[in-house]
Formats: sequence, structure tokens, C-alpha cells
Amino acid sequence: MSRPMSTTTLSSVLETEHRDLAEAFTAFVRRELVPLAAELPEDGGLPPAELRAYVRRRSAKLGFYAGDHPEELGGSGMPFSAVVMLHHAAGRSGCPLAPYALAGSDGPSPLLRRGTEQQIERYLKPLVRGEATRCLALTEPNAGSDAFHLTTTARQDADGGWVLSGRKTFVSNAGHADFVIVVARAVDGDGKDLGPTAFVTGMDTARLRIGQRYEGMSGEELYELVLDEVRLPADAVVGGAAGVGAALGNGIDSLSRGRLVVAAMCNGIAEHALELGIAYARERKAFGERIGAYQHVQEHLVSSRAEVEAAKLLTLACARLVDDGVETPENAALAKLTSSETAVRVVDRALQVHGATGWVRGHPLEFLYRYVRMMTIIEGTSEIQKVIVARAMGLG
Ligand SMILES: Cc1cc2nc3c(=O)[nH]c(=O)nc-3n(C[C@H](O)[C@H](O)[C@H](O)COP(=O)(O)OP(=O)(O)OC[C@H]3O[C@@H](n4cnc5c(N)ncnc54)[C@H](O)[C@@H]3O)c2cc1C
Repeated sequence: MSRPMSTTTLSSVLETEHRDLAEAFTAFVRRELVPLAAELPEDGGLPPAELRAYVRRRSAKLGFYAGDHPEELGGSGMPFSAVVMLHHAAGRSGCPLAPYALAGSDGPSPLLRRGTEQQIERYLKPLVRGEATRCLALTEPNAGSDAFHLTTTARQDADGGWVLSGRKTFVSNAGHADFVIVVARAVDGDGKDLGPTAFVTGMDTARLRIGQRYEGMSGEELYELVLDEVRLPADAVVGGAAGVGAALGNGIDSLSRGRLVVAAMCNGIAEHALELGIAYARERKAFGERIGAYQHVQEHLVSSRAEVEAAKLLTLACARLVDDGVETPENAALAKLTSSETAVRVVDRALQVHGATGWVRGHPLEFLYRYVRMMTIIEGTSEIQKVIVARAMGLG
């Protein structure tokens, strides 16, 4: 595809370091994934599970999937800023299979990096190799943004094992996952609250079942999980005995990285949408002129350009700080808030520039318009990112 924008954009200052890696990933997407994506139905729904599994394993073999994990776990030991650039490249490629080539909500979880040796061997390594997938069951019908206001309980029994009861909702990938990380409120034998605790277990565990299935705007599948007195051994607690009551602390730092990865994907999507908008505005004629000559059209594209550059700079700077050991929830919140809100606006404007052409089912912008809408909700809503930043500013 032609690149209407200059390659020496402002944000390229922060992109030079891992440019070769990002270009190698983009070449893989073009060479291997774009031809496979051409076979998918035009409405842009969720690709079949076998195809997603193939993409994941192939990408792991090439060293892209879960690339930031150390080599002894099966990863490539990439810096986090390189991973962020790969997610950007996936979004920018416009290829609907590209996001599945990188570890997301079904891949290795930072929570499991705090797992016991046995958990790392049994769960984390197959995830890094792309051979298994998991899901994370945190949200409940009455605990979404207020994620740790949990009513799902894990009661400790006399032999040190746990009995989990409750309902989880909006869980991605639960219908295809090999195992689940469930966050529940641990309670000891005397009924004392021990705090939010993460447990890991196979999806085939007795008395754990899938309830309702929800279909998202762009074909994603989310599931309800029902835990009906699910019995788990003591070693199902992520991190072993030290993990009891520790899910909140462990979750907070892993969420920051998840938010930066979402921010990068959003920036890539926004850049792709902007490129489509610019290319169309240069070609399409109305009233005897190319529409790009009209200031109202320029306004859509120039505002988008400014916002995309700002969001990219913020995200790349945050990722680089993570590699330098500086990881703050407010930095990640600023990047996720700015990038996801920008992506929603930029895709909307690019569609507007295309008129009816962009609105028609099967056009890339029609799909992106539906796909990008989840980005201001997942990994914490925009309002929750504002709450985090407000707190860091000493407010509230
Ligand atoms: C595509 C997708 C995938 C998901 N995958 C998973 C998954 O794999 N596992 C999982 O556990 N969950 C998952 N979720 C659920 C997701 O984490 C929640 O939807 C999200 O945390 C918001 O919770 P909620 O939907 O209950 O909204 P609510 O918390 O009910 O919020 C409703 C509105 O109120 C606002 N609000 C709430 N509290 C405040 C406040 N203090 N200040 C200001 N505004 C506030 C929110 O920002 C929002 O606008 C997924 C959701 C989506 C859309």
C-alpha cells in the first residue's frame, strides 16, 4: 500500500530504535497473513478459532508472539518498547488477522509470571509458545469498573483447598481457552476475608461452566462463566501461598502494560484510518475539485494527524520509560485515554471523508468503525483512566 504520509513524522524520532523489528513483523503480515485474511467473510467477523491458533503459533515460531518474554520461557527477550511498536504495526497493517499474531487477552498473563515454578511450566510456557490460550475472569455482573468489589468467593476448606462460587461475565476467549485465571475473594475457614486472589485452573474443571454467550459489535465473543462450588487444590492459587490476597497489587502493574499495548494498537488503527482518508481525499472529486482541497475535509484530516502524532509520542515515551524501569499507572492511563479516544474520533472522521463509500458493509472503515469502539471500554474505561490521573494529581 502506498504511504501518503512522510516517514519522517514527529513520532518517528522515538521509533528508530526498533524499526527493523517492526518492519520484519509488517513484512510477515503482508506475506503470510494478508493472503489468509482475503479468504475471510467480508463482514469482518471473528476469524475461525483454528485460523487464529495457526496465526498465533506461526508468529511464536518467528519470535513475534509474546516477544517480550525471556528466552528461557520461549520468548525473544524484546524490550517492552519493541512490543509496543509491533502492536502499532499490527493496527496499522489493516489486516484483521494481525492482532492475533501478538499476545493479547488470550496470551501469557503478567499474573502468571508471578506463578510458582510448576505454574510457569504447566501454564505460562505453552502460552508463550502460542500452543495454549487462556482467559481472565475478573468482571462480574455488579463489578465492572469497580473490579475488586467481588462477590465471587473462594472458601478455604479443612485440607487447604478452595471452593469457588459465583458468576463472571464478559470474559473474552472463554469458549476456546485451555485454562482460566479467576479472581475471587478468598475467605478462610473462619469466614475471615483474605482479599482478592487469582486462581488458575483448566476450563474442563468440574462444576465450572460457560453460561450466556454475548456477541460484540465486530464479532468478538464474550462469555459468562458460572462457578458452582468449584473445588480447587491449594496449589491453584497463582503464586502459591504468597498469592493469597495479592491479586490487587499484582493486577495493578500488569494492567499498566496491557493499557500501553491497547494504546499502541489504537494508534496503529488511527494511522491506518488516516492514511485511507488522505488517499481518498486526494482522489475523490466533488464540485469539480478534489475533496481534499476543501477546508472542511482538511479539518477532519489535519486534526486527526495532530491527534495521532500526539497519541503516538505519548505511548512511545511511556513504553520507553517502562524499559527504563519507570512504570506508573497514570502514565499508562494518559496514553490509553488519549490513544483510544483519538482512534475512535479518527476512524469516525475518515469514514465521514469517504461518505457512503466508507459506510458500506465490507469497506475497511465500516469494520474499523465497529471494531475500534471497544477500545475506550476494555482495560478500564476512559472515565476510569481519568479517575487514575485525577488521583495522581492529588484530586479526589
Ligand atoms: C470487548 C471486551 C472484552 C472484555 N474482556 C474481558 C475479559 O476478558 N475479562 C473480564 O473480566 N472482563 C472483560 N471485559 C469487561 C470489561 O473489563 C468491563 O466492561 C469494564 O471494566 C467496564 O465495566 P462495565 O462494563 O461493568 O461498566 P461499568 O463499570 O458499569 O461502567 C458504566 C459507565 O460508568 C462509568 N463509571 C464507572 N465508575 C466510574 C467512576 N468511578 N467515575 C466515573 N465514571 C465511572 C464507566 O466509565 C462507564 O462509562 C471486556 C469488555 C469488553 C467490551
